[in-house]
Amino acid sequence: MKTIFEMSSPDRIGSSLPLLDVPASSSVPPNLERSGKIGLPEVTEGQVMRHFVNLSTMNYHVDKGMYPLGSCTMKYNPKHFENLARLSGLSGIHPLVPEAMAAGTLEIMYKLEGFLCEITGFEGASLQPAAGAQGEFCGLMLIKSYLESIGEKHRNEVLMPDSAHGTNPATSTLADCVIIGVKSNEFGEVDPDDLREKAGPNTVAFMLTNPNTLGLFESRIEELTSIVHEAGGFNYMDGANMNALLGVARPGDMGFDVCHLNLHKTFATPHGGGGPGAGPVTCTAELAQFLPEPVVIQNEDGSYSLSKKQNSFGRLLAFYGNTGVLYKAFAYIRTLGAAGLREVTENALINANYLKARLEEYFDIPFNNGPCMHEFVLSGDRQAEKGVKTLDMAKRLLDYGFHAPTVYFPLIVHEAMMIEPTETEGLEDLDAFAEAMISISKECDEKPYLVTDAPVNTPVLRLNEVQAVKELCIVEPLDEEG
Ligand SMILES: *Cc1c(COP(=O)(O)O)cnc(C)c1O
Repeated sequence: MKTIFEMSSPDRIGSSLPLLDVPASSSVPPNLERSGKIGLPEVTEGQVMRHFVNLSTMNYHVDKGMYPLGSCTMKYNPKHFENLARLSGLSGIHPLVPEAMAAGTLEIMYKLEGFLCEITGFEGASLQPAAGAQGEFCGLMLIKSYLESIGEKHRNEVLMPDSAHGTNPATSTLADCVIIGVKSNEFGEVDPDDLREKAGPNTVAFMLTNPNTLGLFESRIEELTSIVHEAGGFNYMDGANMNALLGVARPGDMGFDVCHLNLHKTFATPHGGGGPGAGPVTCTAELAQFLPEPVVIQNEDGSYSLSKKQNSFGRLLAFYGNTGVLYKAFAYIRTLGAAGLREVTENALINANYLKARLEEYFDIPFNNGPCMHEFVLSGDRQAEKGVKTLDMAKRLLDYGFHAPTVYFPLIVHEAMMIEPTETEGLEDLDAFAEAMISISKECDEKPYLVTDAPVNTPVLRLNEVQAVKELCIVEPLDEEG
């Protein structure tokens, strides 16, 4: 296909502007004025349109196909909620307007805090954190503030399993803590004996993703959280992927003290692409006194205003958080209702278990002792024996029209492939993905070069992914004439 530059033809104009009916004058200083031609392609309006539409489909995205990126919940989010968040009364409001003029926004925030507390089983909430990672940081600051208030400021250790998401150690380090790894046992769950050994007088918190990154629910969760409480520490739940628990189980009932949610995974904001997110934190009443400012309160006359907790640890960001994301979450929760939210979880789990069952025969699945939660982790060990790595299979999936799952994470599984179909995929799509994976496993046996040379059907072929992160121009530069 010709590039838009190759289609250019001199003096072809794709737009028709009205004639200038005001004096032609310029406020641009003469030395800054353009002297030669700008060098843009000269094409028709239709060619420009097709150029941009084609570009938009060269990148893979969830509106184009399934995106089973484990631990990241790349699900379809209804566009309807985007429209609601863009209602001018909500999106047009300036953060400095008087509270009375922001009554609607404050009411939504107040009610959303209440919903999130109910969903997680906690008493206090902050909608401020702009991402999951910032929510983790906020949670640790709440715990550290509490510890300081009871004269336990010396505590500086955060315990986490070897399967932890990368943001957990990063935020703990930012919160000035030292990370202590806790081993997983033969079932892929946290080893309570190892936790018991490591929890002690320096423990700030035990940070855990539940279900863990193997897609397994920690079956001894109450034992784990009590071990930490007995040592005077707190339990932090990384609730980024709450579509595994919604309406079924609550962190507050499992012995956790604080958690964050990723509204840009579970609650109707698309995840990825670096757009705005929100990682609200919910916590026990004990920790809530330290929440960042401002918080929304309801006054006696029923109106809402911004307030500050007496012992607030301060601010996390300017103003109130990414309100556009909050509106979408509010609308999503109100639309689905309690029963609908539970169905989200049921569908996420049944989809993951269906795929796992379809693939079991063709791939190794370590720690496969029963049903998984919203995701599961395959190992490419069997295929690696034939000289095909998990990375090759991930590339080959692109040829079949699917985004690759998360690969090489969690680190405790060799040649890992972490698959999260999410609740929004239908049976036909799950089957199509399973068929693609099964074909690839057969190719590994019969024609492995098809997999090791992949992808061949994508706009650019095999990239050096290390280099591609740093050098954003991934296509061959055009030659001089081009
Ligand atoms: C996505 C994710 C995070 C981090 O969320 P960000 O918004 O990207 O900072 C943390 N933990 C888990 C388990 C996640 O899946």
